[in-house]
Amino acid sequence: MHIIALVKQTPDTAKLSKTVGGMQLLADGQPRIVNPWDEYAIEVALQLKEKHGGRKVTALTLGKPESVEALRTALAMGVDEAVHICDPLLNEADTLTTARALAAAIGKLGGADVIVAGRSAIDGGDGATAVQVATLLDLPMLGYVAQLHGIANRRISVTRAMEYGRETVSAELPVVMSVLKEIAEPRYPTFMGIRKAAKATITTWTLAGLELHPVAPALTWVAAPPAQRESQIEWLQGTPAEMATALVDRLFAAKAL
Ligand SMILES: Cc1cc2nc3c(=O)[nH]c(=O)nc-3n(C[C@H](O)[C@H](O)[C@H](O)COP(=O)(O)OP(=O)(O)OC[C@H]3O[C@@H](n4cnc5c(N)ncnc54)[C@H](O)[C@@H]3O)c2cc1C
Repeated sequence: MHIIALVKQTPDTAKLSKTVGGMQLLADGQPRIVNPWDEYAIEVALQLKEKHGGRKVTALTLGKPESVEALRTALAMGVDEAVHICDPLLNEADTLTTARALAAAIGKLGGADVIVAGRSAIDGGDGATAVQVATLLDLPMLGYVAQLHGIANRRISVTRAMEYGRETVSAELPVVMSVLKEIAEPRYPTFMGIRKAAKATITTWTLAGLELHPVAPALTWVAAPPAQRESQIEWLQGTPAEMATALVDRLFAAKAL
């Protein structure tokens, strides 16, 4: 069984917050980390290999040269190999182009039995990439997986956490799934893992290597950024009762009540 974990490098949003026109989080020169949701994807991929006799786990990322660090973290956690899609033509890729490149790389890797993604990226946050990869590869998509029950006779059984409740479903491999935090606790990289990861060779593919060249970087565009909202803050003073009375007065004055 071959398991692929989709891993994105993102800005460390705990350490920065810079937007331009309300549209983009810039991270040049700022700390970058493995997208926290993808740590769960890596953990699930490793557990699938350990529990079900998997052949190997591959971490796959698309990103600028520095994204290789996210792959080294995945290698330190225990993945067997890492592939980096890196091409300046992808610097302005939208989700569909990102998914096309990821799907092409998965094809070039010979496919996978399970492709695991995080629920979303903490910067882009579309939550669309895994769904698009599944669509492009014509595979079942198991989204928002909260619990993994196991694999038997090449059928995977999971519980998905949806807005309307939980549902337990099964699907025949190969599948794509996105996982939630409660599915597992990501392991820490070991000292040996970190040393091994530092020396590991990471495969890098360009668009030409994926036979996707030329490609339109973005078929979608942002028509208008959300308008910046003006806000004012007023600190109410006094006892709790006085502040509550003042708050109700303000809400009446603002016609909010
Ligand atoms: C019109 C448009 C223009 C854009 N221009 C730029 C730009 O100039 N520069 C820029 O940096 N971004 C740009 N983006 C954002 C970029 O396309 C997204 O960051 C990317 O497609 C992933 O989407 P997401 O961040 O919403 O991830 P989500 O869909 O929320 O991610 C879900 C999961 O998919 C997997 N995944 C997502 N992205 C990757 C990846 N790159 N590699 C491996 N796995 C992944 C992870 O497992 C992740 O948890 C643009 C987007 C649009 C729509």
